[in-house]
Parts: sequence; structure tokens; C-alpha cells
Amino acid sequence: MSAQVSRREVLAFGWLPFFRPKHIALAGARFRILRNGRSRRRYLVIHGNEESARAVLVRHMETREGIAYVIEGHTRNVDVEGLKLDPNRMFSRIGAEASLKRLNPNLDPARLAHALDVLDHGRPKLIHALTPPAGGLTFALHNNSESYSVTDEVPISDQTSLREPLNPHAFFLCTDPSYFEKLKTSPYNVVLQQRAPSTDDGSLSRLAAAQGFRYVNLEVALGQTERQREMVWWLEWNLVR
Ligand SMILES: [Zn+2]
Repeated sequence: MSAQVSRREVLAFGWLPFFRPKHIALAGARFRILRNGRSRRRYLVIHGNEESARAVLVRHMETREGIAYVIEGHTRNVDVEGLKLDPNRMFSRIGAEASLKRLNPNLDPARLAHALDVLDHGRPKLIHALTPPAGGLTFALHNNSESYSVTDEVPISDQTSLREPLNPHAFFLCTDPSYFEKLKTSPYNVVLQQRAPSTDDGSLSRLAAAQGFRYVNLEVALGQTERQREMVWWLEWNLVR
């Protein structure tokens, strides 16, 4: 009898993944959840207009284990109670406030406060999802354009290794010194930002530095899909844990 119960439990447990949520959202930032097997890797594409990063990650998850969160819209900014917000500024109230003020000129203070309260309410659940288990890694993929490159990060980094100075748009940004030691053996640009910057901009990298979880950001120029795929695989093969 007990064997039967345990078999039933096994069957029930086997069904559980079927009921796992396929989406998670914070205000207008809605992410599709892609799960594959069991791993301590978490992956993220947070800016909807970064189509190369999205294509690389979605295909990556067909063969790599972990949990990926892929933003659903196709614009950089998301909607929060009718206001525009950069989703990579929503991980703290102070960062979200600065982003909302910048993107919504002449904003009514009561509307601002309401949007910030909505974000405060939903934020812990999303942060919990994006935080890797102990010893794991959260790996975020981004694309950039002319206006942003590794040269913007060098002055605020603890260590840098610029092996590819003529391609400043392609670089890794990490928060863990042991990962920096590995990544700097690559032929690519790498910066370490271990200490949380004093200004809280509400980004996930700032949160990772403050909370002490392992985080790597990969920036590649929009459209450089093959280059981004190559760098993702370099990380996978060389940062085994
Ligand atoms: Zn981005």
C-alpha cells in the first residue's frame, strides 16, 4: 500500500513542472519563462528591442540547462501605470524613480508615487526569480548601439581587461572576482564591478553587487548575433561553476 502511495507521489511530482508558471511580470515588464532541466544558471533578456540577444538566448535554451527569463515586448521601455520605465532600472525604488522622471517629463508627484508603490509591491517576487541559487550564476544578455560601449564602464570598474580595444561594444561585465580571473583569459573585453556603486541606479548588476550573487552581463552590438553566440558559448565552456 505504501509503495502504491509513493508511486502516486512520484506521479504527482512528475506532473508538477506542467503547472509551473510560464510567465512572470512586474508591472508592464512581462517575461516568458523557458526552463530546461536542472541547473543553477539563470538567464535574462530584459530589453525588448535587443533582438539579437533574444534570438541567441531562446536558441541557447534548446540545448543548455537552466531557467531563462525573456521579456515579451519589443520596445526598450515598459509601461507602469501608463508611464514609461526602463526595466533595467526597476530593481530599486530610487532607481525606478529616476528612470520614471527622466522618461516622463512634468510627471505629477501623485502618479509617480503610485507607480513606485506598484513596483514596490511586485518587485520581491521578480528579484527572487532572477536571483540564482547558492553557487549559481545569473547571466544577462544585452545589445547596444553607437552610444554605449565598454569605455563607459572602465572608469567605474574595479578591474578591466581590454583584449579587443577595437571592438568596444562587445564585452563582459561581471561582479565576481573569480569569474573575472577566468573571463580575462578570453580574447574579449571584460570589466569587474565588484563593489556596488554608491549611486543606486536600480539595475540588476547593481542589485547583484549589493546582494552578493554572481552576475555576468554580456554586451554586444545589436545585429552581431553570431558574435554574441560565440561569447555566450565561451562563457559556458569556461565558467563551469
Ligand atoms: Zn539592454
